Amino acid sequence: MSQTFRTLDTAEVKGKRVLTRVDLNLPMENGRVSDATRIERVLPTIRDLVARGGRVILLAHFGRPKGGPDEANSLKGVAGAVAQHLGRPVAFAPDCIGAPAQAAIAAMKDGDVLLLENTRFHKGEEKNDPAFVEALASLGDVYVNDAFSAAHRAHASTEGLAHKLPAFAGRAMQAELEALTLALGAPKRPVAAIVGGAKVSTKLDLLGNLVRRVDVLIIGGGMANTFLFAQGKPVGKSLCEKDLADTARSILEAAKAANCRILLPVDAHVAKEFKAHAAARFVDVDHIADDEMALDIGPKSIIAVEEALASIKTLVWNGPFGAFEIPPFDAATNQIAKTAAFLTKDGKLISVAGGGDTVSALNAAGVGDQLTYVSTAGGAFLEWMEGKPLPGVEALQNK
Ligand code: AMP
Repeated sequence: MSQTFRTLDTAEVKGKRVLTRVDLNLPMENGRVSDATRIERVLPTIRDLVARGGRVILLAHFGRPKGGPDEANSLKGVAGAVAQHLGRPVAFAPDCIGAPAQAAIAAMKDGDVLLLENTRFHKGEEKNDPAFVEALASLGDVYVNDAFSAAHRAHASTEGLAHKLPAFAGRAMQAELEALTLALGAPKRPVAAIVGGAKVSTKLDLLGNLVRRVDVLIIGGGMANTFLFAQGKPVGKSLCEKDLADTARSILEAAKAANCRILLPVDAHVAKEFKAHAAARFVDVDHIADDEMALDIGPKSIIAVEEALASIKTLVWNGPFGAFEIPPFDAATNQIAKTAAFLTKDGKLISVAGGGDTVSALNAAGVGDQLTYVSTAGGAFLEWMEGKPLPGVEALQNK
């Protein structure tokens, strides 16, 4: 991913209406924001624009509304939460286009902040419909995209607008793109990837791309069982996609051809039941019994992973090493996460992690803020790791 996008450094925003796409798809519990991480991440961009006298018009989606406005997916309640974190008022317009949006924008002064209602209340958003893009574009002078997490979708507010107005990456988008460039774009070598999690089938594109890009591929989690099975090892009752044995073998061959070293577990923490604190034992992967499940990698495998980490300069991580939600099968993920954090703090490792459960696994290990960069972007992070172009990012390039 080359870094040819424009940042806020070169944006002229004084007195301008700045359409700013942010991620405010916040987790809610009983009508209240239960995790404000996404608000925190967009504050630097909002503050930067406010300080320079821009009129900040926030565009965001919320939930998955079906065919029109509905109370449950309204962003109305979110405006107050943003205001609270920002420390200044945030106005709200009950539609993202048309008269309500125009009136609210006409009332803005330099440095004001306004949140428009859920863009997905209009079908044109997800269809990237030119008429809807035009209706949005007419409300602004400049477009800023700060929502990397929505950049894998070519929607009106994430992609279409970038073709209509001078377009810039916001600070959160910039940080994300810089971190991703450090990790896989032009990484310091040797570079390793950890891929864990449940299944090979959901990460085929990821594995296929990584074997060509990294020097060491460390495989953990349930998906390691499929690889071990493909090598003729017994996997007992472990999570294992036996029908993907051929696929696993071809990934191993592709790795060999690309000179990518594959590291698979040599031992496992096995139990007969999938529950917290189930009776468990450590066993070499050659000796997993018929009634046992590998729920985490074992101590010998942890040492092998730590040795590999000690000799690399860059790490990209997606997926836990075991069933980390049920202790003690979180042990390998926790220990390796701490080692990665330690090496990062010591200046020996650039570490970038993200995608789905990885963030909660790293937070549970207590190191969520101790790696070089942890992406909360989920789908967009995975598609980037798969080597796919992200429309929202592509649209910001060379503009
Ligand atoms: P993913 O969303 O693909 O990253 O998968 C994360 C899920 O994989 C978590 O819910 C883990 O509990 C699960 N997982 C990881 N290792 C294992 C394993 N050895 N057996 C069963 N589930 C696992």
